[in-house]
Amino acid sequence: MAWLGDQVPRRKAARAAKGPSPAGRDISGLVVAVFKKLLYNDEEQIRPVIVYGLAALAIGVGGYFVYARWAGTDRPVEVSLLCATAGCGYSDERQLQIGEPIPGICPTCKQASVYPAFRCPKCRTANVLNEDRGIKGRTKCSKCGAELHYGG
Ligand SMILES: [Zn+2]
Ligand SMILES: [Zn+2]
Repeated sequence: MAWLGDQVPRRKAARAAKGPSPAGRDISGLVVAVFKKLLYNDEEQIRPVIVYGLAALAIGVGGYFVYARWAGTDRPVEVSLLCATAGCGYSDERQLQIGEPIPGICPTCKQASVYPAFRCPKCRTANVLNEDRGIKGRTKCSKCGAELHYGG
């Protein structure tokens, strides 16, 4: 995670560097600061709920790259894509394109509601995680009811 370290100036430098600077660097620095604030509570312990929230946020912000990071690969992966709009039912199996926004536009219902889906470890049904959709609470498999979350 060398890229994180690169973007974190010492506290003094961060305060001094409020002037104009490249937008990308500004955003990276801000994101890192927010991550740090959110990740640790007063006891300096990582809050698991926040981690899930960050995963959703990161996927929304970073799209393909962050998704690939979470999926543990830097190569394009074939994923199931599902439209989360009620009653639409669009789904696809293909590689995510680099820079592809998530959620994507559904070719059937034209809503921005196409998310990469996770396969249920029990029954292999593709489900969109609540975290990805910005909904609170654990995701239950739509077919067998098993709890789904990142990492299996
Ligand atoms: Zn749709
Ligand atoms: Zn299932």
